[in-house]
Amino acid sequence: MHDINALIDFDQQHLWHPYSSIIDPSPTWPVSAAHGVRIRLANGRELIDGMASWWCAIHGYNHPLLNQALIKQMEQMAHVMFGGLTHEPAVELGRRLVDLTPESLDKVFFSDSGSVAVEVAIKMALQYWQAREQPGKHRLLSLRKGYHGDTFGAMSVCDPVTGMHDLFSGLLPSQLFAPTPSCAFDAPWDAMDISALTELMEQHHQELAAVILEPIVQGAGGMRFYHPEYLRQVRKLCDHYDVLWIADEIATGFGRSGRLFACEHAGVAPDILCLGKAMTGGYLSLAATLTSTHVAETLCGGSAGCFMHGPTFMANPLACAVSVASIDLLLDSPWQQRIGAIEAQLKAELAPLASHTAVAEVRVLGAIGVVEMKDAVDLRQIQPRLVEQGVWLRPFDHLIYLMPAYVIDTDELGALTHAIGQVIADS
Ligand SMILES: *Cc1c(COP(=O)(O)O)cnc(C)c1O
Repeated sequence: MHDINALIDFDQQHLWHPYSSIIDPSPTWPVSAAHGVRIRLANGRELIDGMASWWCAIHGYNHPLLNQALIKQMEQMAHVMFGGLTHEPAVELGRRLVDLTPESLDKVFFSDSGSVAVEVAIKMALQYWQAREQPGKHRLLSLRKGYHGDTFGAMSVCDPVTGMHDLFSGLLPSQLFAPTPSCAFDAPWDAMDISALTELMEQHHQELAAVILEPIVQGAGGMRFYHPEYLRQVRKLCDHYDVLWIADEIATGFGRSGRLFACEHAGVAPDILCLGKAMTGGYLSLAATLTSTHVAETLCGGSAGCFMHGPTFMANPLACAVSVASIDLLLDSPWQQRIGAIEAQLKAELAPLASHTAVAEVRVLGAIGVVEMKDAVDLRQIQPRLVEQGVWLRPFDHLIYLMPAYVIDTDELGALTHAIGQVIADS
């Protein structure tokens, strides 16, 4: 990068960033390269990365095996349409997803991003009930503090307060919401925790197509962890009231919570599963929606005669090839020990922060560490201070949190928790 100031200038004047204003843009730091868990800024500084680029870069950046997989695929073809054609990267990835996910899930739909995977899941559920000639079952039941993406169907099942429902009220389908689960992951199960959802299902099952939720970890809606028994109860209720269950594992899939998929904590399988984010190891945008033979065959037997979705870049060969390499790399690594070690270190090093007067709660699960503050964090103030300390973290709302690459070492992780301690001590 030649002229950093010109670059920043153009960026500020012309480019939108996630949830940003063109009138009043937030500062951005130009990056020239990233390697392992280090992000190199254009000014030469290196930051230790605690975000894995929003759950994705689980092996760190610029991994030789993933680079190699992309180069090899690129020399064959970068892309061909998936309408009427198929290819080895898609088949190999599909094979792995069918193998790794619960036995009942064996039909795979590839799409470009997590939000689209959620749209696809919702459409599958709606087409399923149309095919069963119960079109009245067209609403979704979701959880408060949930996050499922930014497209319209996904937005409609996000938390109604943080999920932009006021902004687009009247335009979003009206869905049902149960309170956020409050029984903590490792607390004794409190049967009251499922009562509100039970009541909603009892009252509304005749209009319900599906329950959609993030299993165990509610991510962007609040970084909360809840009890596995909640999922077992959801499975039972869905079976009892004949409602489909969609599990959105876009954030939790591929090891983040300590299990390959978060549903494994509860030993239950959804009817529809959404995957994304870490699936390509953070290289390219790719997502998948899996369902059972029963759901797939039923919905395809309806009046449409097929599933009505087909993205241009469906099963992009580059994305599929790097995803196959990323999954193999993960499974060949001691990922459980690594995540266990990250969890233990996060627990040890973040716990003392809980006694600070500004801190509401500290919680850790798998390779996710969360410090919830009593007041909302001022990002414009805190972000430069974190960068000064040589770390990359992106707090939001009341939350300073981290979800590093699984390959992070003890010193690097220690630097991240230390930096969090510093900014809290100075606040
Ligand atoms: C990030 C996320 C999405 C949306 O994925 P995009 O690729 O950003 O569209 C959906 N659900 C969950 C749980 C997520 O964390």
